[in-house]
Amino acid sequence: MSREQLVVQRARKSFQTGKTKPLEYRIHQLKSLHRFVSERRKDIADAVKKDLHKSEHGTELFETLGLENEINLAVEKLAEWAAPRPVEKNLLTISDEVYVQPEPLGVVLIIGAWNYPWAVTLQPLVGAIAAGNAAVIKPSEVSPHSAKAMEELLPLYLDKDLYPVVTGGVSETQELLKHRFDHVFYTGSSAVGRLVMEAAARHLTPVTLELGGKSPCYIDKNCDLAVACRRITWGKFVNCGQTCIAPDYILCEPGIQGRVVEEISKSIKEFYTDNPKSFEDYGRIINQRHFKRVMALMEGSTVVIGGDSDESQCYIAPTVLKDVTAESKVMQEEIFGPVLPIIAVSGVDEAIQFINEREKPLVIYVFSPDNKLIRRVIAETSSGGLLANDCLVHFTVNTLPFGGVGNSGTGCYHGRHSFDRLSHLRSCLIKKLNMEGVNSMRYPPHTASKLGWARFFILRRVNLGRLGSVALLAVLAALAAFVAQRFSQ
Ligand code: NAD
Repeated sequence: MSREQLVVQRARKSFQTGKTKPLEYRIHQLKSLHRFVSERRKDIADAVKKDLHKSEHGTELFETLGLENEINLAVEKLAEWAAPRPVEKNLLTISDEVYVQPEPLGVVLIIGAWNYPWAVTLQPLVGAIAAGNAAVIKPSEVSPHSAKAMEELLPLYLDKDLYPVVTGGVSETQELLKHRFDHVFYTGSSAVGRLVMEAAARHLTPVTLELGGKSPCYIDKNCDLAVACRRITWGKFVNCGQTCIAPDYILCEPGIQGRVVEEISKSIKEFYTDNPKSFEDYGRIINQRHFKRVMALMEGSTVVIGGDSDESQCYIAPTVLKDVTAESKVMQEEIFGPVLPIIAVSGVDEAIQFINEREKPLVIYVFSPDNKLIRRVIAETSSGGLLANDCLVHFTVNTLPFGGVGNSGTGCYHGRHSFDRLSHLRSCLIKKLNMEGVNSMRYPPHTASKLGWARFFILRRVNLGRLGSVALLAVLAALAAFVAQRFSQ
């Protein structure tokens, strides 16, 4: 039996004991996860420093703060999320109990990506624990220091059987995917997303795919360009451009291209000094393979800012390319690096058309003082999310569902959305054995008169919420008596 099979079996066996059903148990595990984050901050920061050259404060801001927020919210709201959810009833069910009961799915497989190795792996885990599932956690092998730290340290805090960490690369992930899970939560590229979905389909296992793609950023010429470009510079170059929701490229009118370049240049200096290479808050490309990939994307384009690099350190300076066209190499795939192309469009009409001719992005950014223009972009395009006049921060609002659409992903999470995504929302209807008369209309023989009553009971919309329960029962009793009498004749 392979290690992966053993781990999955153990997780399932442990789940089947029913241990995760009580909310107190889940809360206890969530609090342990919180304790892990606060006690192991230094270990987490050291690992991320080795993987991505991120500073300690940077790691806290971008990796663990959001995680702590998600845990705190889940602990606070779990009782509310897990409670039965009464739903509106129709005339046929007025005296019944009709509600939705969230229940755990079973064993969830979480496959994480390397760019924010802790956040994208452990945030789905918060949802999995809250919803009462077991979860097999597979961190990305591309960020090896974080994966190793997770494998060594997480079991010191969480139940080892229910929440095991499995490290390894493609073959280990493929081995895991041969087994049956009750949900697969994958974060990574669209290409691998397809393989994950295919493997899950063999077991009819539902998936959440948190993918990437090219997220456009439209800048209206009437913007305060200094503010807009500072926010864009921050969103693009944080983590050395390796952010799934980083603005991938800028669309703007040719008349403002010069000022956009100027303002971005100022912001780069403001954030990362004249020498980003030796500045502690400027990151590195994860490995040489990605370094070469990003460098090759620049071929054939005009560099107006940055462009210098050092392969030995996987360093690429914050770079801006101008006069890029749809045919340029850099426009053929998600950049996922510190390279920002500017494409000239004649205005918002052409920007919308440009966006709509391509795959649906994970997010669309629009910078404009004009609310009407913003609403127009919302109405005439589609994407996982839309953020106006800022970058990235929609990720931090845990009441907003976070996820893609089409090529940028399927399913969403954060806050209650994670809980719902990783729960089965079970429909429950509890009837009593009395009031049999009302049922006569559905029993054979089927007659025109019975059908008429069925039409009345099923199609009639009444606002039952406005009637008190005594009035409701009175209405029901009268109807039942009437129907029973009709059909007994
Ligand atoms: P990656 O190489 O770390 O792969 C992700 C996971 O898939 C890893 O755990 C890896 O082991 C596994 N994997 C790789 N190849 C596989 C295969 N052939 N079969 C089975 N499993 C395999 O990450 P990546 O794909 O380079 O990640 C970058 C992409 O992820 C970008 O497109 C980015 O936009 C996207 N991303 C999306 C989000 C989001 O929340 N939507 C977050 C982070 C990253």
